[in-house]
Amino acid sequence: DAPLAQSDPDLAAAIKNELGRQQSQIELIASENIVSRAVLEAQGSVLTNKYAEGYPGRRYYQGCEHVDVAEKLAIDRAKKLFNCAFANVQPHSGAQANGAVMLALLQPGDTILGMSLDAGGHLTHGAKPALSGKWFNAVQYGVRREDGLIDYDEVQSLARQHKPRMIIAGGSAYSRHIDFARFREIADSVDAYLFVDMAHFAGLVAGGVHPSPLPHAHVVTTTTHKTLRGPRGGMILSNDEDLGKKINSAVFPGLQGGPLMHVIAAKAVAFGEALRPGFKAYAASVVENAQALGERLREKGFDLVSGGTDTHLVLVDLRPKGITGKAADEALERSGITCNKNGVPFDPQKPFITSGIRLGTPACTTRGFGVSEFQLVGDWITEILEGLARNGADNGAIEADVRGRVKALCETFPIYSGF
Ligand code: PLP
Repeated sequence: DAPLAQSDPDLAAAIKNELGRQQSQIELIASENIVSRAVLEAQGSVLTNKYAEGYPGRRYYQGCEHVDVAEKLAIDRAKKLFNCAFANVQPHSGAQANGAVMLALLQPGDTILGMSLDAGGHLTHGAKPALSGKWFNAVQYGVRREDGLIDYDEVQSLARQHKPRMIIAGGSAYSRHIDFARFREIADSVDAYLFVDMAHFAGLVAGGVHPSPLPHAHVVTTTTHKTLRGPRGGMILSNDEDLGKKINSAVFPGLQGGPLMHVIAAKAVAFGEALRPGFKAYAASVVENAQALGERLREKGFDLVSGGTDTHLVLVDLRPKGITGKAADEALERSGITCNKNGVPFDPQKPFITSGIRLGTPACTTRGFGVSEFQLVGDWITEILEGLARNGADNGAIEADVRGRVKALCETFPIYSGF
């Protein structure tokens, strides 16, 4: 049984190159992070061989005693981390978790009210091309044009008008705290479920630097791989154990087959890490760094949607600099800084072009960047993008120069040394 490098050199080379890319680039994609060796080890384990349909102690297959330990650890740690009564750790991804919640609580054709994609919501919250937009009558709320913030009065009046069965809060590009109590009040006023998707900020909740939706929402989902710094995957939480039973049936046998036991083991490891005191300091630093990066960009003349951030991400409106999101993320990529183009609210550009970029601090904070490094990154982004606005396609010299500085900074904050 040969190691990967011998048995499949092409694939081994792709993995090695990806490791090199991660080691030498500044990762600012807000939904990404850098997991520990322990998480990698659990995910790369023999647990991938095991079928375990069902739940711990109630499986449809024999030989589940050890994977049961892994899943119970993941469930218990998740409940402790988020101080809640119920956790399902089986969803293969965030989208699967959201699909399971809808399967558990809705009928096809029901009305749902979620944040629109252009305002920073997620596809699974009722966007037209997604299942949530096709199988439900999806009504969408946005943000205010003046300040980029959720307009709770608009949410209330849409709820009154459309009587949704479920209201969804949370998003992928919203940088401010969400008023969960207000959302619950609105949901109660029309007898709707409140479903909070905390995929982006779950790690900040776990670290105690962001309000928790759990005291307010009927059900909460998250991905486990963003600020929470675990393996790719999803999870569903609630304080209502009866609702939990419906959720369990919706995940399996409703939506999924065999759970990914190796991934569940890695989730258990990540939740264990997040329960340690060091994670609180990490989460605080993620927010402090995002604020420092945002502030530096604002000083340099960039516009931030909502004026700043309370979380791990900043959404930069590039229109004052006269460049598009697509041109910007490509120039940054050439310079060794990875991020994604992102629509800004009321964006005049098409979704594949956009007027903005979304920047996040979770990954580089994991590798040790602090405020001064993020200020430096803000200066470099300015240099590249102002150069791009001036020079267009002839910006190569600036990009190559920054690329060198990026590489040197990354070497000062190594990841996965010795791999
Ligand atoms: N929910 C939100 C708010 C997200 O930002 C994302 C992913 O970006 C998801 C759900 C979907 O997660 P996944 O990509 O794991 O399906």
